[in-house]
Amino acid sequence: MNDTKEKNSKLVHSPFALFPSVVPKDCFELACKLAPVFNLLAFRLSNCPEYLLKHLEALTTIDEFSGKLVLLYKETVQHFGRQPQPYQLGILRSDYFIDVLKEKSTLKQIELNTIASSFAALGQRVAEWHQVARSLFDKSQANDGELPPIRNVQNFVEAMKEAHTIYDDAESRILFVVQPNERNTYDQEMIRWELWKQFGIKSLRRTLREIEEQVDHSRLPEKLILVSCNERIPISVVYFRAGYSPDDYPSEQEWNARKIIEWSDSIKCPSLGLHLVGMKKIQQVLSEPGEVEQFLQDRPEDAALVRSCFAEQHSMEPSVQQFAVELAQAHPNDYVLKPQREGGGNNLYGDRMLQLINRASKEELSGYVLMKLLRPKDYSNYLVRNGVASFGKCISELGIFGIFLSSDDNELIINRSMGHLLRTKWTRQEDGGVAAGNAFLDSPLLT
Ligand code: ADP
Ligand code: MG
Ligand code: MG
Repeated sequence: MNDTKEKNSKLVHSPFALFPSVVPKDCFELACKLAPVFNLLAFRLSNCPEYLLKHLEALTTIDEFSGKLVLLYKETVQHFGRQPQPYQLGILRSDYFIDVLKEKSTLKQIELNTIASSFAALGQRVAEWHQVARSLFDKSQANDGELPPIRNVQNFVEAMKEAHTIYDDAESRILFVVQPNERNTYDQEMIRWELWKQFGIKSLRRTLREIEEQVDHSRLPEKLILVSCNERIPISVVYFRAGYSPDDYPSEQEWNARKIIEWSDSIKCPSLGLHLVGMKKIQQVLSEPGEVEQFLQDRPEDAALVRSCFAEQHSMEPSVQQFAVELAQAHPNDYVLKPQREGGGNNLYGDRMLQLINRASKEELSGYVLMKLLRPKDYSNYLVRNGVASFGKCISELGIFGIFLSSDDNELIINRSMGHLLRTKWTRQEDGGVAAGNAFLDSPLLT
C-alpha cells in the first residue's frame, strides 16, 4: 500500500511481525511467574496513599499533568479515607527486555503499566496467525521452538465478568473510556464482543467529555449513571483505555469526568491509586534497597524475584541529582531519561538527553528518572506495515499481562497471569510502542 492509499483509507492493519520472535523459555516462564507477584505488589501500593503521596507530591509543582492526577488522588483520599469503591480491577502489563550479560539472558523490567495496558486482543490474533504461519511455511524459523498457548481475551473477560457480577445491578453495563478519534478500536472491540458473546454483558464506549455531558448529576457522587438516547445506564465497571496522557484532558470537563468516575461506586480498572502506581517515579523508588521488600514482607522469595528483574535506575530528586547528571554526562549512550508519561515516544536518549540535562532547571529535571539502557539480543524477522513486509534486524519487548480483582476485605479474589504480548521493533529505533508508531505486534517463540 502506498502513502496516498494509506491517507485515504480509514482502516489500517496494526503493524505485525510475519513470524514469531525468539524468547528464551526460562525468561518467559519467570515473567509469567512474576505476574501475580506484581499484581499483589501493585495492589498493596494502591492501598498505601501515604507512600504514593510521599514520593509523588513533589510533582504537583513540576509537572502540571501528573500533578493534577496526584492532587485529585489526594483530594479523594482526604474525602473518603481510602477509596470510594473497595473492589478494584487491575489489568497490568509488565514489560521486559531480555538483557544479555556475559552470554547469559536475563529478564529485566522496562516498566509496569497499570492503566490502559493495550494489545491483549490484537496480540492474541497475531499469536494465532503465527500458529498458522508455522504450518504454511515449512522450514521457517517458526518451526524451531514452541508457541505458548494464549487466551488473553478469555482471561480478560472472565475477570471483568466477576467484577460486573459483584456490582450486582442487572441493568448495569461496563463502560470503556476511550480517546476521541481512537485509532486502536479493534483491540477494544474484541473484548467487548467477547463480553457480549460469552456472558451477555453489554458495554459502551465513551470519551471523558461524553461521560461528563451524559452523566445523571442527580445521582452523584455515589452512582455513575449515563443518560443516552433516553436510556438510563448504570455503570458497573469503568475500564480506562484513555486518561493516561495530557492530551486526554484538553479542558476541565475531562478532569471533572475523571473525578466523577473516581468518586462513584463503580468498580474502576484502574482506580486512581493504581494508576499512580504505574508512574515511572514509583518504579524507580521501588528499585531502591528495602522498598519492594517492605511491601512483600510476608513473601521474601517473591520480593527477591521481583528485585532480580529490576534494572539500574536513579532518582533525579534535587538531593541526589548531581550523581545522576554526572552519570548521564559520562555515559550518554548507556542511559535513558524518562518523564512521568505513558504511551511511548516520551523518553530522551543520547544527545537529546544531554541537551535537556544542560538546559533544564534542577526542579524540572527532578520530574524525570534515569534508567540504564538495556540491550537485548537482535534477531532477523519480516515486519509488516501497511501490507508491505521488510526484512531486517530487530529486538523484542515481552509484555506479560496480570489481572487481579480485590475484595472489600483487602484480599485478592482473582490474581493471575492473564496472558502475553510481544512487541518487536527495528534495532535502529530507540523508543517502542505500537500505537506510538514504532513497534510491531509479535508473539514469542520459546527456545
Ligand atoms: P511508556 O510508558 O511510554 O511505554 P517505557 O518505559 O515503556 O514508557 O519506554 C518506552 C520505550 O522506550 C520502551 O518500549 C522501550 O522500547 C524503550 N525503553 C524504555 N526504557 C528502556 C531501557 N531502560 N533500555 C532500553 N530501552 C528502553
Ligand atoms: Mg507505559
Ligand atoms: Mg512502555
